Amino acid sequence: MEYRKNDMVTLEITDCGIDGEGIGKADGFTVFVKDAVIGDTVLVKIIKAKKNYGYGRLMEIIKPSPHRVEPKCAYARQCGGCQIQALSYEQQLAFKERKVRGHLERIGGFTDLPMEPIIGMDEPYHYRNKAQFPIGRNKEGRIVTGFYAGRTHTIIENRDCALGVPENKEVLDRVIAHMEKYGIEPYDEASGKGLVRHILIRYGFYTHELMVCLILNGSSMPKSEALIDSLREIPGMTSITININKKQSNVILGEELRLLWGSPYITDKIGDITYRISPLSFYQVNPRQTQKLYAKALEYADLHGEETVWDLYCGIGTISLFLAQQAKFVRGVEIVPAAIEDAQENARINKIENVEFFVGKAEEVLPREYEKNGIYADVIVVDPPRKGCDETLLATMVAMQPKRIVYVSCDSATLARDLKYLCARGYEVRKVCAVDQFGGTVHTEVCVKLCRR
Ligand code: SAH
Repeated sequence: MEYRKNDMVTLEITDCGIDGEGIGKADGFTVFVKDAVIGDTVLVKIIKAKKNYGYGRLMEIIKPSPHRVEPKCAYARQCGGCQIQALSYEQQLAFKERKVRGHLERIGGFTDLPMEPIIGMDEPYHYRNKAQFPIGRNKEGRIVTGFYAGRTHTIIENRDCALGVPENKEVLDRVIAHMEKYGIEPYDEASGKGLVRHILIRYGFYTHELMVCLILNGSSMPKSEALIDSLREIPGMTSITININKKQSNVILGEELRLLWGSPYITDKIGDITYRISPLSFYQVNPRQTQKLYAKALEYADLHGEETVWDLYCGIGTISLFLAQQAKFVRGVEIVPAAIEDAQENARINKIENVEFFVGKAEEVLPREYEKNGIYADVIVVDPPRKGCDETLLATMVAMQPKRIVYVSCDSATLARDLKYLCARGYEVRKVCAVDQFGGTVHTEVCVKLCRR
């Protein structure tokens, strides 16, 4: 049967799409329904119809799924941050495992995958150590902050995100009170006018050190002394900085940083390693799960103290330093120069000397070092951004013939594509393990062990 726009349909949700939307069928017609979860019977209004499928707006939950839970956050449905908070955490994990397997099978062409059970969190809320809050005005003209609604830049007001730390609200309350008191304007994207764009907050789960970075369309914060006095009252306050971003673009952070008070960075620990984190550096957002992810990467690297290792896309050297504890020598490569400065500093403060870091693109540095300097690798670890690895890089990895490759991925679709390339050229997937870092959302990290056949 065919359906048309504005038709009302009752269906049972039997599956979940990769963005967390519910999927159900009515007489062979597939309908994607945002905010419906597996097991729900729902009434939907068709908002867009193609020949065999369409999109429906959830009008009424006729019979709720046994897996449906009350989201902790009252804004879970509007906010673009979480997609599947209404699904029990157990079922979220099952969904993520299916999603990874599905990508590897469909895109990678794999069968009989050696998948280990997904590693979930003990507490799937309040796990994020970092949050970036946009500042704006609502329709009534009040200064507001929160998160963008899905696919738009409308701010859903919420100072107390259920994924973040309680300190976020303390910081936001004080910054907004300061803005109101001194008439400081939030930035307006449409006109490019106004001062305060975003507030970046980072928290060291181990050290309890707190960082606030004010992202400004300007070079200074009016009456900053008063703001500093107020923020310093929050326990753990360690670093208050300004980031200058005068560009009219979606990119949150600018390049220039100015210290307002305290230290220009905070420190935190994962396992036995201490890390220095500045506002601009990449640091995993869920430190408890990161420790489990790195432990998996270390297990898959199977090091005995004699190996030469490359850690590509190394960020501030997080994985490199973890691996260096059990390898002969580790070389890290990262595109952001400031991150490499942090990596070098991190090696110093941890007294780790068997590491070397390179600034550059992995797909340029590895071929150059391999061809010109004949540098060899027993194990290569990669942890690329969502778009995965460049093919030039994969080709060099294959030419170098390391015994093992450990692929850490935050996007199982590009992971599947890259594994297919490697497995067509002499490698074999030995183990796959998803480690959830992002409860409430559809995202997950995956760690894969590949060996030379
Ligand atoms: N392994 C690190 C960081 C992983 S995130 C950790 O676990 O913390 C991916 C990193 O790759 C980011 O730091 C990003 O800046 C870097 N990056 C992106 N493209 C790159 C490229 N072509 N070559 C090297 N690094 C790159």
